[in-house]
Amino acid sequence: MALLQDKVALITGGSRGIGASIVSRFAQAGAQVAFTYHSSKEKADALAQAVSAEHGVTVKAYQSDAASFSAAEELAKQVLEDFGTIDVLVNNAGITRDNLILRMNEEQWDQVMDNNLKSVFNLTKQVVRPMMKSRAGSIINVSSIVGITGNAGQSNYAASKAGIIGFSKSIAKELGSRNVRCNVIAPGFIATDMTDELDEKTRDAYLSNIPLRRFGEGTEIADACVFLASDMSSYISGQVLSVCGALNC
Ligand code: NAP
Repeated sequence: MALLQDKVALITGGSRGIGASIVSRFAQAGAQVAFTYHSSKEKADALAQAVSAEHGVTVKAYQSDAASFSAAEELAKQVLEDFGTIDVLVNNAGITRDNLILRMNEEQWDQVMDNNLKSVFNLTKQVVRPMMKSRAGSIINVSSIVGITGNAGQSNYAASKAGIIGFSKSIAKELGSRNVRCNVIAPGFIATDMTDELDEKTRDAYLSNIPLRRFGEGTEIADACVFLASDMSSYISGQVLSVCGALNC
Protein backbone atom coordinates (compact mmCIF):
# COMPACT_ATOMS: atom_id res chain seq x y z
CA MET A 1 0.00 0.00 0.00
CA ALA A 2 1.21 3.53 -0.76
CA LEU A 3 2.66 5.24 2.34
CA LEU A 4 -0.02 7.96 2.57
CA GLN A 5 -2.97 6.03 1.11
CA ASP A 6 -6.34 7.40 2.38
CA LYS A 7 -4.71 10.27 4.30
CA VAL A 8 -5.81 13.89 3.79
CA ALA A 9 -2.98 16.41 3.98
CA LEU A 10 -3.10 20.19 4.27
CA ILE A 11 0.13 21.90 3.15
CA THR A 12 0.77 25.64 3.36
CA GLY A 13 2.77 27.46 0.69
CA GLY A 14 2.44 24.70 -1.89
CA SER A 15 2.54 26.78 -5.05
CA ARG A 16 6.34 26.94 -5.41
CA GLY A 17 9.65 25.60 -4.12
CA ILE A 18 9.74 23.05 -1.32
CA GLY A 19 5.96 23.22 -0.82
CA ALA A 20 5.29 22.28 -4.46
CA SER A 21 7.60 19.25 -4.06
CA ILE A 22 5.71 18.23 -0.91
CA VAL A 23 2.37 18.48 -2.75
CA SER A 24 3.71 16.30 -5.54
CA ARG A 25 5.40 13.68 -3.34
CA PHE A 26 2.35 13.42 -1.03
CA ALA A 27 0.06 12.83 -4.03
CA GLN A 28 2.51 10.25 -5.38
CA ALA A 29 2.32 8.50 -1.98
CA GLY A 30 -1.49 8.31 -2.28
CA ALA A 31 -2.61 11.28 -0.17
CA GLN A 32 -5.50 13.61 -1.02
CA VAL A 33 -3.93 17.06 -0.90
CA ALA A 34 -5.21 20.53 0.00
CA PHE A 35 -2.58 23.23 -0.31
CA THR A 36 -2.41 26.99 0.03
CA TYR A 37 -0.71 29.85 -1.76
CA HIS A 38 -0.55 33.55 -1.10
CA SER A 39 -0.52 35.22 -4.51
CA SER A 40 0.61 32.68 -7.17
CA LYS A 41 -2.90 31.64 -8.27
CA GLU A 42 -1.96 30.53 -11.79
CA LYS A 43 0.99 28.45 -10.61
CA ALA A 44 -1.09 26.90 -7.84
CA ASP A 45 -4.02 25.97 -10.09
CA ALA A 46 -1.69 24.52 -12.74
CA LEU A 47 0.15 22.46 -10.11
CA ALA A 48 -3.10 21.12 -8.62
CA GLN A 49 -4.33 20.06 -12.04
CA ALA A 50 -1.03 18.46 -13.15
CA VAL A 51 -0.39 16.56 -9.90
CA SER A 52 -3.98 15.34 -9.67
CA ALA A 53 -3.88 14.10 -13.29
CA GLU A 54 -0.50 12.40 -12.78
CA HIS A 55 -1.33 10.56 -9.56
CA GLY A 56 -5.12 10.14 -9.72
CA VAL A 57 -5.84 11.77 -6.35
CA THR A 58 -7.72 14.93 -5.38
CA VAL A 59 -5.43 17.97 -5.19
CA LYS A 60 -6.96 21.37 -4.47
CA ALA A 61 -5.39 24.83 -4.16
CA TYR A 62 -6.72 27.49 -1.75
CA GLN A 63 -5.74 31.14 -1.53
CA SER A 64 -5.09 31.81 2.16
CA ASP A 65 -2.75 34.16 4.00
CA ALA A 66 -0.85 32.00 6.49
CA ALA A 67 -0.16 35.04 8.67
CA SER A 68 -3.86 35.64 9.33
CA PHE A 69 -5.64 33.80 12.15
CA SER A 70 -9.11 34.40 10.70
CA ALA A 71 -7.97 33.19 7.26
CA ALA A 72 -6.68 29.97 8.90
CA GLU A 73 -10.06 29.48 10.57
CA GLU A 74 -11.88 29.86 7.24
CA LEU A 75 -9.38 27.65 5.43
CA ALA A 76 -9.63 24.75 7.87
CA LYS A 77 -13.44 24.96 7.78
CA GLN A 78 -13.41 24.82 3.98
CA VAL A 79 -10.90 21.96 3.79
CA LEU A 80 -12.86 19.93 6.35
CA GLU A 81 -16.01 20.55 4.31
CA ASP A 82 -14.28 19.55 1.05
CA PHE A 83 -12.23 16.58 2.29
CA GLY A 84 -14.05 15.46 5.47
CA THR A 85 -10.92 15.31 7.64
CA ILE A 86 -7.31 16.53 8.02
CA ASP A 87 -4.85 13.77 8.94
CA VAL A 88 -1.62 15.62 8.21
CA LEU A 89 -0.73 19.31 8.45
CA VAL A 90 2.50 20.63 6.94
CA ASN A 91 3.24 24.22 7.94
CA ASN A 92 5.66 25.09 5.15
CA ALA A 93 4.84 28.69 4.13
CA GLY A 94 7.61 31.10 5.00
CA ILE A 95 9.40 34.27 3.94
CA THR A 96 12.70 36.06 4.48
CA ARG A 97 13.27 39.78 5.08
CA ASP A 98 17.03 39.69 5.67
CA ASN A 99 18.96 42.56 7.19
CA LEU A 100 21.69 43.15 9.73
CA ILE A 101 20.25 44.06 13.13
CA LEU A 102 21.59 47.62 12.80
CA ARG A 103 19.41 48.14 9.73
CA MET A 104 16.48 45.84 10.47
CA ASN A 105 13.23 47.69 10.95
CA GLU A 106 10.13 46.77 12.93
CA GLU A 107 8.18 45.87 9.79
CA GLN A 108 10.82 43.33 8.68
CA TRP A 109 10.76 41.75 12.14
CA ASP A 110 6.94 41.64 12.34
CA GLN A 111 6.43 40.31 8.81
CA VAL A 112 8.79 37.39 9.37
CA MET A 113 7.30 36.57 12.77
CA ASP A 114 3.74 36.67 11.43
CA ASN A 115 4.44 34.67 8.27
CA ASN A 116 6.82 32.10 9.73
CA LEU A 117 5.88 31.61 13.39
CA LYS A 118 2.36 32.92 14.01
CA SER A 119 1.32 31.05 10.86
CA VAL A 120 2.29 27.77 12.52
CA PHE A 121 0.16 28.62 15.57
CA ASN A 122 -2.73 29.75 13.34
CA LEU A 123 -3.26 26.44 11.55
CA THR A 124 -2.16 24.14 14.35
CA LYS A 125 -5.00 25.68 16.42
CA GLN A 126 -7.45 24.73 13.69
CA VAL A 127 -6.43 21.08 13.23
CA VAL A 128 -5.91 20.15 16.87
CA ARG A 129 -9.59 19.46 17.65
CA PRO A 130 -10.33 17.23 14.63
CA MET A 131 -7.04 15.36 15.12
CA MET A 132 -7.64 14.83 18.85
CA LYS A 133 -11.16 13.62 18.09
CA SER A 134 -9.94 11.03 15.62
CA ARG A 135 -7.03 10.15 17.94
CA ALA A 136 -4.53 10.41 15.10
CA GLY A 137 -2.61 13.09 13.31
CA SER A 138 0.80 14.24 12.19
CA ILE A 139 1.85 17.90 12.23
CA ILE A 140 5.07 18.73 10.42
CA ASN A 141 6.54 22.19 10.80
CA VAL A 142 9.20 23.45 8.40
CA SER A 143 11.89 25.29 10.32
CA SER A 144 15.46 25.82 9.07
CA ILE A 145 18.98 24.89 9.99
CA VAL A 146 19.35 28.63 10.66
CA GLY A 147 16.87 28.23 13.55
CA ILE A 148 19.42 25.93 15.19
CA THR A 149 22.70 27.63 14.28
CA GLY A 150 21.71 31.30 13.82
CA ASN A 151 22.91 33.31 10.83
CA ALA A 152 24.27 36.84 10.50
CA GLY A 153 21.74 39.02 8.67
CA GLN A 154 18.84 36.72 9.52
CA SER A 155 18.12 37.37 13.21
CA ASN A 156 14.38 37.74 12.49
CA TYR A 157 14.25 34.58 10.36
CA ALA A 158 16.41 32.55 12.78
CA ALA A 159 14.25 33.64 15.73
CA SER A 160 11.06 32.64 13.91
CA LYS A 161 12.50 29.25 12.95
CA ALA A 162 13.87 28.60 16.47
CA GLY A 163 10.42 29.50 17.80
CA ILE A 164 8.90 26.80 15.61
CA ILE A 165 11.10 24.21 17.32
CA GLY A 166 10.03 25.19 20.85
CA PHE A 167 6.39 25.36 19.77
CA SER A 168 6.51 21.93 18.10
CA LYS A 169 8.17 20.18 21.04
CA SER A 170 5.48 21.63 23.33
CA ILE A 171 2.65 20.51 21.03
CA ALA A 172 4.18 17.00 20.88
CA LYS A 173 4.04 16.90 24.70
CA GLU A 174 0.50 18.31 24.90
CA LEU A 175 -1.05 16.05 22.28
CA GLY A 176 0.96 12.84 22.55
CA SER A 177 -1.65 11.16 24.74
CA ARG A 178 -4.16 11.60 21.88
CA ASN A 179 -1.79 10.02 19.34
CA VAL A 180 -1.19 13.34 17.60
CA ARG A 181 2.47 13.72 16.64
CA CYS A 182 4.35 16.94 15.92
CA ASN A 183 7.80 17.09 14.35
CA VAL A 184 10.08 19.62 12.70
CA ILE A 185 12.06 19.47 9.49
CA ALA A 186 15.10 21.73 9.41
CA PRO A 187 16.22 22.13 5.81
CA GLY A 188 19.72 23.34 4.97
CA PHE A 189 20.14 25.22 1.71
CA ILE A 190 17.61 24.06 -0.84
CA ALA A 191 17.52 25.33 -4.42
CA THR A 192 14.31 27.42 -4.63
CA ASP A 193 13.26 31.03 -5.36
CA MET A 194 14.25 31.78 -1.74
CA THR A 195 17.89 30.78 -2.27
CA ASP A 196 17.93 32.27 -5.80
CA GLU A 197 17.77 35.64 -4.04
CA LEU A 198 21.30 35.11 -2.63
CA ASP A 199 24.19 36.76 -4.47
CA GLU A 200 26.85 34.51 -6.04
CA LYS A 201 29.48 35.20 -3.40
CA THR A 202 27.14 34.21 -0.57
CA ARG A 203 25.97 31.11 -2.44
CA ASP A 204 29.57 29.98 -3.02
CA ALA A 205 30.44 30.59 0.63
CA TYR A 206 27.49 28.46 1.74
CA LEU A 207 28.35 25.72 -0.77
CA SER A 208 31.91 25.38 0.45
CA ASN A 209 30.56 24.71 3.97
CA ILE A 210 28.18 21.92 2.96
CA PRO A 211 29.89 18.52 3.35
CA LEU A 212 27.72 17.01 0.59
CA ARG A 213 28.98 19.90 -1.63
CA ARG A 214 25.63 20.81 -3.17
CA PHE A 215 22.34 22.50 -2.36
CA GLY A 216 19.49 20.14 -1.59
CA GLU A 217 16.43 19.59 -3.78
CA GLY A 218 12.84 20.29 -2.74
CA THR A 219 12.06 16.61 -3.29
CA GLU A 220 14.64 15.68 -0.63
CA ILE A 221 12.72 17.73 1.95
CA ALA A 222 9.44 16.32 0.64
CA ASP A 223 10.63 12.73 1.10
CA ALA A 224 11.43 13.44 4.76
CA CYS A 225 7.93 14.95 5.12
CA VAL A 226 6.36 11.81 3.59
CA PHE A 227 8.18 9.73 6.22
CA LEU A 228 7.01 11.94 9.12
CA ALA A 229 3.45 12.02 7.75
CA SER A 230 3.28 8.26 7.35
CA ASP A 231 2.78 5.46 9.86
CA MET A 232 6.45 4.53 9.27
CA SER A 233 7.22 7.22 11.87
CA SER A 234 4.44 6.26 14.30
CA TYR A 235 6.72 6.46 17.39
CA ILE A 236 8.53 9.65 16.37
CA SER A 237 7.28 12.92 17.87
CA GLY A 238 8.81 16.12 19.20
CA GLN A 239 11.89 15.68 17.02
CA VAL A 240 13.86 17.94 14.70
CA LEU A 241 15.06 16.25 11.54
CA SER A 242 17.82 18.20 9.81
CA VAL A 243 17.91 17.66 6.05
CA CYS A 244 21.00 19.67 5.28
CA GLY A 245 23.78 17.67 3.63
CA ALA A 246 25.60 17.43 7.00
CA LEU A 247 25.84 21.22 7.29
CA ASN A 248 24.85 20.99 10.95
CA CYS A 249 26.74 18.08 12.40
P1 NAP B 1 9.65 29.89 -1.69
O1 NAP B 1 10.20 29.21 -2.89
O2 NAP B 1 9.85 31.36 -1.51
O3 NAP B 1 8.07 29.56 -1.61
C1 NAP B 1 7.33 30.05 -0.52
C2 NAP B 1 5.94 29.47 -0.56
O4 NAP B 1 5.24 29.97 0.59
C3 NAP B 1 5.14 29.89 -1.77
O5 NAP B 1 4.25 28.86 -2.12
C4 NAP B 1 4.37 31.13 -1.25
O6 NAP B 1 3.14 31.39 -1.92
C5 NAP B 1 4.08 30.64 0.16
N1 NAP B 1 3.80 31.75 1.07
C6 NAP B 1 4.62 32.75 1.46
N2 NAP B 1 3.98 33.56 2.32
C7 NAP B 1 2.73 33.06 2.46
C8 NAP B 1 1.58 33.43 3.20
N3 NAP B 1 1.58 34.51 3.98
N4 NAP B 1 0.47 32.67 3.08
C9 NAP B 1 0.44 31.57 2.31
N5 NAP B 1 1.49 31.16 1.60
C10 NAP B 1 2.61 31.90 1.67
O7 NAP B 1 10.21 29.24 -0.35
P2 NAP B 1 10.93 27.80 -0.12
O8 NAP B 1 12.38 28.00 -0.32
O9 NAP B 1 10.21 26.75 -0.86
O10 NAP B 1 10.69 27.65 1.45
C11 NAP B 1 9.63 26.86 2.01
C12 NAP B 1 9.85 26.75 3.51
O11 NAP B 1 11.11 26.15 3.76
C13 NAP B 1 9.88 28.11 4.22
O12 NAP B 1 9.27 27.99 5.48
C14 NAP B 1 11.37 28.38 4.38
O13 NAP B 1 11.64 29.23 5.45
C15 NAP B 1 11.88 26.97 4.60
N6 NAP B 1 13.31 26.82 4.31
C16 NAP B 1 13.78 27.01 3.04
C17 NAP B 1 15.13 26.83 2.80
C18 NAP B 1 15.73 27.00 1.43
O14 NAP B 1 16.96 26.91 1.34
N7 NAP B 1 14.95 27.22 0.39
C19 NAP B 1 15.99 26.49 3.86
C20 NAP B 1 15.46 26.31 5.12
C21 NAP B 1 14.11 26.46 5.34
P3 NAP B 1 3.10 32.33 -3.26
O15 NAP B 1 3.68 31.49 -4.37
O16 NAP B 1 1.67 32.59 -3.48
O17 NAP B 1 3.92 33.52 -2.96
